[in-house]
Amino acid sequence: MKKLLFSNILINKEIKKRYNKSIESFTLIQIRIITILTGILYIVYSQIDQYILPANIMNIASSIHLYIIAPYGFLISFLTFFPKYYKHMISLLMLAPIFATAVNLFLVKDLVLFPIFMVEIYMIIFWTFTISGLNIKQSSVSIFFVSIFTFVYYSFIMPLPKELFIMHAFWMGSSISFGFVGAYLLDRLSKRNFINYEKLENLAITDNLTGLYNRTKLDEVLNNELARSKRFSYNFSFMLIDIDYFKIVNDTYGHQVGDDFLVEFTELISNNSRSTDSFFRWGGEEFVMICPEVDKEKILIHADKLRQKVELHKFKTVGNKTISIGITLSKNDDTIDSLVHRADEALYMAKNSGRNKIVFA
Ligand code: GH3
Ligand code: MG
Ligand code: MG
Repeated sequence: MKKLLFSNILINKEIKKRYNKSIESFTLIQIRIITILTGILYIVYSQIDQYILPANIMNIASSIHLYIIAPYGFLISFLTFFPKYYKHMISLLMLAPIFATAVNLFLVKDLVLFPIFMVEIYMIIFWTFTISGLNIKQSSVSIFFVSIFTFVYYSFIMPLPKELFIMHAFWMGSSISFGFVGAYLLDRLSKRNFINYEKLENLAITDNLTGLYNRTKLDEVLNNELARSKRFSYNFSFMLIDIDYFKIVNDTYGHQVGDDFLVEFTELISNNSRSTDSFFRWGGEEFVMICPEVDKEKILIHADKLRQKVELHKFKTVGNKTISIGITLSKNDDTIDSLVHRADEALYMAKNSGRNKIVFA
C-alpha cells in the first residue's frame, strides 16, 4: 500500500517529458477558464464590499478587487492564448495567491468582524492546490509563501488573540493538508491516466507476437512519409519481405514452432538493419521495411545482404529458410496503394522466379 501511494510513477525522464507536453494544452484551457471565473467572482466581491464594509475602507477594498485583482485574473487568462509566454503566465499565477492574501490581510485589519474574512485565505489555499492549474510543486511554493506571510502577519504585525490564533492556525493547517493531498491525488490520477493511455496506444500499434509495429502504425508512417515526400521532394525505399514456404514450418513442426520462428526471424532482421530503417509486421509471415535510401544500387545491396543473412542463418528446430523481397522507391505522386502495389508486383516476380530472390519494380 505504502509503495502504491508514494512511488513515483513517472520514473523515466522521457515519459515525464511526454507527460508534461501532453497536459500543457489542457492546463492552458483550465487556467483560462479558472482565471476568468476568479476574475468574475472578484467583481462580485467588489460589489459585496459596498454592502458590508465601513465607509473608510469600502472604497479602497472595492477598487482593489474591481480594478486590480479581477483584471489580474483576466490578464493571466489572456496570456494563456500565447504559449510563448507560458512561463510568465505561470509566474503570475503563482504570485496571485500571495498577492490576494496580502490584500486580504491589510484591508481587513481594522474591522471588528475581520475573522470572517479569513475564510478567503482558506479558499485561496484550496483554489491554488486543486483548481488553479498550477502543478503540485508550483502550488506548494505559492502556499508556502502564503503561510509564512500569514503567520508572520498574525504573530508580529497584528498579533491575534490566542484563541483566534490557534483556531486560525488549525483551519490553515486543515486547508493546506486537504489541499495538498487533493493536489497530490489529482496529479497521480492524471499521470496514471497518461500511462494507461500510452499503454493502450502502444497496444493498438504493436504486433504482440514479434513486438514490431503493426499495419496500423505502418499506415500512419506511410501517410507521413508520403506527405513529406510531396512537400520536400524527398523519397524513400519500401521493401515487402515474405518468408518462402512458411506454411511448411507450421505443417511440419506445428504452430508454436512457427511462432518461435517468426520471433527469431524478426530479431535476425532487426539486428541486421540500420538505425534509420523501420521494420513492420505487415501480417502473417510478411514484413515491411522502410529505408531512407533512395539510391537503387544501394538499396539492392542492402536487401541482398538481408536475404543472405537469412539464407545462412540456422533457425532453431527449423534450420535453413529463405526470403523473397519486392522493392520499390517512392515517387512524389504515390499513394499507399500505388506504392504497395509496385512492391507487391516485385515480390510476386521474386516468388515466380524461384524464391530466395530480390526484385526491384
Ligand atoms: P510462399 O513461399 O508462396 O510465400 O509460401 P508460404 O507457405 O510462405 O505462403 P502461404 O501464404 O501459403 O502461407 C503462409 C502461412 O503463414 C499460412 C499461415 O498459417 C502462416 N501464418 C500466418 N501468420 C502466422 C502466425 O502468426 N504464426 C504462425 N505460426 N503461422 C502463421
Ligand atoms: Mg505470404
Ligand atoms: Mg510466404
